[in-house]
Formats: sequence, C-alpha cells, structure tokens
Amino acid sequence: MTIGRNMTRRDFIRISSIFLAGAAAMPAIPAGILSGMGSRPAGLADEKIVYSFCEHCFWRCGIAVHVSDGKVTKITGSEHHPLSNGRLCPRGAGGTGLLYDPDRLAYPLVRETRGGKQQYRKATWDEAVTIVAEKLYRIHEQYGPGAIAMLHHGYGVSFFKKMFSEIGVNKIAKPSYDLCCGPARQASVLTYGYPSDTPEGFDIMNSRYMMFFGTHFGENMHNTAVQEISEAIRRGAKIVVFDPRYSTLAGKAEHWLPIKPATDIAMMQALMHVLISENIYDKPFVEQHTVGFGELWDSVREMTPEKASEITDIPAEAIRTVAREYAFHAPAAFVHSGRRTNWYGDALQRIRAIHILNALAGNFKMPGGVVAFQKFPLPQPPAAHEHPAYEKEAYSKYPFFPQDEPSNTIASHEIIQQAIAGDIRALFIYGVNLPETMTLGRQAALDALQKVDFSVAVDVLPAEVTGYVDVVLPECTYLERYDDLDNGRAFRTPFVALRQPAVKPMFDSKPGSEIARMITDKWGLHGVFAPTVEAGLDKKLKLAGSSLEEIKKKGVLVMPATDLYRKSGEPLNLKTPSGKVELASAQLKAGGFDAVPRYTPHPEAPEGYYRMLTGRKPMLTFGRTANNRFLGDLATAKENEVWVNTGVAFSHSLSDGEYVKLKNQAGVVSEFPVKVKVTERIRRDAVYMVHGFGHNSKQLTWAYKKGASHNQLISRTDIDQAMGAVGFQNNFVTFVKEA
Ligand code: SF4
Repeated sequence: MTIGRNMTRRDFIRISSIFLAGAAAMPAIPAGILSGMGSRPAGLADEKIVYSFCEHCFWRCGIAVHVSDGKVTKITGSEHHPLSNGRLCPRGAGGTGLLYDPDRLAYPLVRETRGGKQQYRKATWDEAVTIVAEKLYRIHEQYGPGAIAMLHHGYGVSFFKKMFSEIGVNKIAKPSYDLCCGPARQASVLTYGYPSDTPEGFDIMNSRYMMFFGTHFGENMHNTAVQEISEAIRRGAKIVVFDPRYSTLAGKAEHWLPIKPATDIAMMQALMHVLISENIYDKPFVEQHTVGFGELWDSVREMTPEKASEITDIPAEAIRTVAREYAFHAPAAFVHSGRRTNWYGDALQRIRAIHILNALAGNFKMPGGVVAFQKFPLPQPPAAHEHPAYEKEAYSKYPFFPQDEPSNTIASHEIIQQAIAGDIRALFIYGVNLPETMTLGRQAALDALQKVDFSVAVDVLPAEVTGYVDVVLPECTYLERYDDLDNGRAFRTPFVALRQPAVKPMFDSKPGSEIARMITDKWGLHGVFAPTVEAGLDKKLKLAGSSLEEIKKKGVLVMPATDLYRKSGEPLNLKTPSGKVELASAQLKAGGFDAVPRYTPHPEAPEGYYRMLTGRKPMLTFGRTANNRFLGDLATAKENEVWVNTGVAFSHSLSDGEYVKLKNQAGVVSEFPVKVKVTERIRRDAVYMVHGFGHNSKQLTWAYKKGASHNQLISRTDIDQAMGAVGFQNNFVTFVKEA
C-alpha cells in the first residue's frame, strides 16, 4: 500500500460506478415513489409508521416514515414533534430520494497505486477500518493529537466526536459555524450572555412587526419559523425586508427596501439614531436592564437618516418611517438575527447591532419579541470508564470563538490553513463536501486535501471530497440508522427526539455508531460505547424516567410549554459581565474591538463587475440535496440561475435564458455555464445565485454539470477577526459569453 507521506500528490479519482449503489442490487422501489415525491401508491399492505427526525437541514423536524414491505413509501411531518407540527418542507418530504439514490456509495474504498496509477479498490470493512485506525494512531503517536482534525456536518457525528475525545483529538470544526450561525451565536453571548440556538429565540408567532436584513426565510424553508411567520401574517403582523434582492419574504412585506449591499450596519445605526433622537426607544427598559447607552448614542449621533441614505441608497424618510413603526409596535416587534449571515467579515458587529435594536425596543422576554427557549433537561449518564487525561487546548486563535462547544473548537478555515501549512497531518471528514463548502473557496480546500498525510471521508454519496481522500467509508442514510438523541436544542415546548431506522442499511453501508466503535476497538479502547447503540439510548432515556421502547412510539418526548416572558420589575440576571444587556461590550473593548457596532465601508465592484450574492432554493439544502432526483426534478430546482438586473443585462447584451460563464475579480471562470435570469428583482450593483450547484463529480449523475459553482468563484474571504466567521460577499463577477 502506498498511502502516506511518500505519495506527493493525490490524483482525483473518479470512483468507478461498480462501487456505487447503481451497480449493486438496488431494491425494487414501490411503484409511485419515483413519480411523485411522497405520493402514496394505492393499495400498499402492512404499512407501518416509524417516527424519527429529518437530516436534510439542521432544523431536524420530526418525521413520520411510512414503510411498507420493507421499503419507505413516503415521509410526512410528525404530528407529535413540536418543530414539524405535522408538516414538512419539500426537502424533508423528499428524503426517499436520498435513500434510493442510485449513486450512493455502496462499499468501503481504499486508494492504492497500481502501475503508477492511483485508483480505488473495494475493501472489506475490516480492511478499511484497520487502515484508518492504524494511520490515525501512527500520526497521533508521532505528532500528537493536534496533528489530527475532524470537519463535520450532520447529526451522526456524535459517535466520532466521542471516538476522538478518547485520544485527545480536539481540533473539531463545523463549517456551518464559520459561514452561518457563528456570528449570531457569539453576538448573543456578548449581548445577552447566552448563545442563540436553532430555532432562534424570537417569539415570531406573537410578533406584530418583524424586520429582516437579507435573510432568506421562505427560501431556506426552516419549517417552524415559516409556520410561525405565516401565522403572524395571518394575525396581521407587518414585515419589513432590507435586501438588495426582492426575495420570497420581501414578497410578503409591508416595506421592501432594496439596500445597497454591505451597508447594513449604517442602516442599523440610523434606525438607532431615530429611536434615540426622537425619544421613542424603551427608556425604562434601557435604564434598568442595559449598560453602555451613552457610548451607543455617541456612536450613532452622526448617523442621521440623511447620512445613512447616502450610504445605503434608502430614502431618509423611509428610514424614519420604519424606525417609528418599529417603536410603535414595540415590544411585540423585533429585528431578526437571520442565518447564513457571514458576508463581509464584520458579521459579529452586524448582529450585535441587531440585538441592540432589539434592546432599544425593550422586547427582551416580551410577547412577540426576543425570548429564551428552554431545553429538555435530559441528565447525562456518568462516564462508563476512566477518560484519558489529555489537556484540552483552546485551538482557535480568534478571541471570541466559543470556548464551550466540544463540537466546534476551531474555525474550519483554520483547519484548512493548518493542513496547508503541514501542522495538521490527518483529516477526518464527516458529511462535509470540502471542495464545495464555503470556507476559503475551492482551491484552498483542494490544497489542504493534497497536503495532509492521510484523509478519510465518511459519506453517503460520492461527493467531490470522496475523490481526494485515502479511504472512503460509506455511511447509511438517516433513514437506516440510530443516532444520538436530539436534545441539544431549546424551544417553546422542550423536547428530546429519537432517530431510529425505518429500514435496514442498504448495500455494504454502516451507521456511524458502528464505524466509530470499530475504529476504537482497533485502537484497543473497548467499552467506549455502550454494548449496542440501543442500549446506550435506553440508558440515557431511563435517567429521564422514559425508555427506548416508550420514545419509539412517537419519536419524541415533549414537556409542557415553558413561561417565556419576564415579569415587570424582575431583574434579568444575565450572564454578561454586567448582568445586564450589553449595548456597549466591555469584553469586545478589552479585546481591542469596537464596543459598539460602527459602519465601515467595504470594497466596491470593479467596473463591469457585480457583487455576487448567494442564497438558497426551497427545494434544496445546498450540497446535501443536490443529487436528489425527487427534489431536482421539480422545475425550479434543476439548476441554478444568475439573477441579473434588466439594465445590466441590456448593457452586457444578455438575454433571459441565455447561458454564460461567470468570471470573478481574480480571473477565475466558472467551470460550467449558468442560465441568466433577467429581472427587476435585483439591484444593478449585484447578481444573485443559489449555492450548491455546478458539481464536477461525474458520479453525482444527477447533479453533475448543472449550473455554476458559487464556491469556485470565491477567491476573496474576509475573516471576522473577533470570532472567526468567514465573509465571502466581497467577491465580484462579470459575464463571459460562450462562443
Ligand atoms: Fe427537514 Fe425541511 Fe425540517 Fe429542514 S426544515 S429538518 S429539511 S423538513
């Protein structure tokens, strides 16, 4: 075997189709499934329903999996689970498309060189796991635990986290922190003293006035939030959307304000200016429960609506109108912190500004405002054995990176940089398609994969990353396995949910729980995991007075709704240094950062280029669903389009439906062309495209060559120096007409 340091470069290996599910005996799929997502074929006998939770995004809604004759026939929303309420988004209902994807990885694969040519060969699980265990062990022995890192996305990772904690590997990163939820989490910590969660702590359904900055609610389809927004609209709530693009949510709004991209903080400062200068903020709340008001006013005093109008392109009178309406509806009004909001390298301050606007409305723990949901109090069983005493280092260099999240100890771009520098020598990649993940762009990810001594991918599909690693371990889908209990999240009605298999693992795939156990056994660390995954779950549930048998019936245990609102005069006792809401953050100041948010200009597009904005389609969760035929077959989800303003299209002689390639400011040209959508729904200084398309892995036979890859066009990233999030919207593109 020639895997290791003597192999200077990994050739990208196209996994032979004989190693994929299509070549294995695909089970007969009941008639009707392929023709209609979730439509139930008539006359199925012996249908049973298995309650579990979805894996198509981190919302993790409860699902009811309909099984007949050993096949999944449809997936519907669990009526028992508080996050689904009997309903799912299209992606959740389309989960069978992943289960019966003919491109699924079917066997463990090991890279080898034969006759000078690198290729994968089919391996037994014992062979593949032995290689993984030995390689990781040797790197650990030679360089220490800091030379190994894990990147992960997906709920099944908990077993691998435990596996690595046994040998002191603590470089664990989830790219979703860097590019999505990190700034909201840390802005909440710095302002309120606790991290924000999923679902975010907003009392949406009781709100009367909701403000959104560029967030794509309705397109991301976060089930519960969409249900609550619909309910709030039904009750008469008003929506305000600041967005350069007329989004789905803007279509529901009282005011759509097409703000110039990269100027949000100026707008937020102007809204604060109006609230304070017109004395329409919640003065009693601010005086009793906040600190830093004087510093805040000093920072926004000069940001008049007229000044903000010059920066943001929004008329001063519109800014005043929105601020006054917001104050009028307060405290049942909020500004939402959004998701996937890491754009320009200043996301922490941007979301801090949002929280400050919320505090000025006095909406903390008020109906229709900001609330703190509760978690289900599930006791943790005592450790079954002595844990090795490895020193836990804080690995991230960013001062406001979380220090208390074992699943995220370092930013994923730091891992990529350390791998390129040779400090990380082994990468264990769980469910992350690294070349197409928005961290430092495609090229940096490939450089990291080339540089390390050893790499492993645990995945369901032959995503691009699987072509660059040394060992590929095929995990079964979330419909074929148990995972850990889901009780990490807080909601109105605290819950703990079960993931359980609806059908047996197909092909030679295995659940993560078993893969992790096999590796630790090879290390001679027996007893790390419970004798069976079922026994481990049962033990945890018994501590809460329940059992695996009981939770299996509905897939969830739910507590009564908790009291979300504060009483008049009650102290907040927040875990900030002051115990109050921090309008000015002494911690940020001590760290050398602005205590209050301040607008700073971002780069402008070169002549003839346009800022590249990105988002999502309701049918797709970026790469996770890209190859799902059931979803991709829907007309709006087949490929991505680039939205181009009508005037811009005219000046570049582009017509609607034409295919062009995109070229970024660094000269990178998209590998595949993308369809032009000429529209008035976007400003002239920006274009918009959905992330997750343009796959170049031919083994993803559905997703291959559909649309352009957004990730490929990221050449510039702006890292938030306070907390390590990655901003990537300072990239600009122009159009290359195909000959
Ligand atoms: Fe699944 Fe949709 Fe719920 Fe996400 S929002 S967990 S994709 S059903």
